[in-house]
Amino acid sequence: MKLEKLSASTILRNGTIIDPVAEKQFKADVLIEDGRIAGIGGQINHEDAKSIDCSGLIITHGFCDLHVHFREPGREDKETLATGSRAALAGGFTRVCVMPNTDPPIDTPEAVANIIDKARELPVHIHPIGAVTHQQQGRQLTEMGSMRDSGSVAFSDDGLPITNGSVMRMALEYGGMLNVPVINHAEDIDLRNDGLMNEGAVSTRLGLPGNPAAAEINMVHRDLELARTTSTRLHVPHVSTAGAARLIGDLKKQHDGISAEVTPHHLFFNDEDLLGFDTNLKVAPPIRSEADRQGLITAIRQGVFECIATDHAPHTTEEKEGTFDLAPFGMIGLESCFGAVNRILVNENDLPLMELIKMLTVNPRNIMGFDNDLLTVGEAAELVVVDTGAEYEFSRAHIQSKSVNSPYLGRQLTGKIHYTISKGNLAVVQ
Ligand SMILES: [Zn+2]
Repeated sequence: MKLEKLSASTILRNGTIIDPVAEKQFKADVLIEDGRIAGIGGQINHEDAKSIDCSGLIITHGFCDLHVHFREPGREDKETLATGSRAALAGGFTRVCVMPNTDPPIDTPEAVANIIDKARELPVHIHPIGAVTHQQQGRQLTEMGSMRDSGSVAFSDDGLPITNGSVMRMALEYGGMLNVPVINHAEDIDLRNDGLMNEGAVSTRLGLPGNPAAAEINMVHRDLELARTTSTRLHVPHVSTAGAARLIGDLKKQHDGISAEVTPHHLFFNDEDLLGFDTNLKVAPPIRSEADRQGLITAIRQGVFECIATDHAPHTTEEKEGTFDLAPFGMIGLESCFGAVNRILVNENDLPLMELIKMLTVNPRNIMGFDNDLLTVGEAAELVVVDTGAEYEFSRAHIQSKSVNSPYLGRQLTGKIHYTISKGNLAVVQ
């Protein structure tokens, strides 16, 4: 990937534009001047403009990921805001929300402001999510109001569930007053126990302790009930089970404040892929059964999930090279996201491309209240140019993250990012 400043005038020529707001697809050129959209239409002429041939390629809003871990401060050996930004650009993302489980956690207004400060000059938009409780210990609420004022777009103790129902209820009530979503890592830790992978036939075969689907379903059920009774905003992250998807779908019919995300890896893999003991497939919540994977795809068709979120979680090779029981939970996911979900959802399961694009663009922006008017003259250019038909083997060369803990290495993906345009920068990915 090559990262350069956008020329004063750039024309994206002969591309097919997918406008996920108007739900329209059409052929046009896009003129970008001084980092802003200056014209969209047929055959734009501009003598001094740098021309980028986009024939056969899709141009759409830059992707937005509500759930990444960039490890700064504290574990800059795994990822930094700067290296995470490069991983985002390589995956077509121009906007990400970073989770607060850093060291120390983002649990004060100053810590929120610090992330915003450090991210100002970086090539993608980075929004901090603040911790719900002090030190993410699950007991005492943080100063959510002042943290929101400092720029926290949502609240979560992600990585750790909020086990105390009363604390979760208060967090939802404050979140409701502040009009921001609360995101709870939905695992009942008592039920999860020491589970390392999905509980089922495969865990028995491998002799590994299992984490039952009920660990997620239980916690999602509690959170949905609290969101319903407090009339607040709950965003359910990385749903892995068909059972939790069903509960979310049911409650959504009665209550407006519920949104949910699904990760590429819970759509791409099933627990049989763990037969090779690839520690990069050790994630929380775990990769589930094929029935769960199919249930998640069905739920997408039914509109249960607003968005795809990667849960990009970098870890060092040394840590992931340990035995399966000792390796940390998590995988990177930004660079492989589009190629993975486009293959599974559009190619193999006939989801309309427009629906997938909405799950990567307008829908996550709507949940966080970000600007969605991106294909309008005068707006800062925040775009991605994609070849949706490209088939390729995902390799180390595609990774920009500081860590390489990806189970997609060696896997066939469909859909390649060519260019990402963000904050006056042009990332030439391919
Ligand atoms: Zn989580």
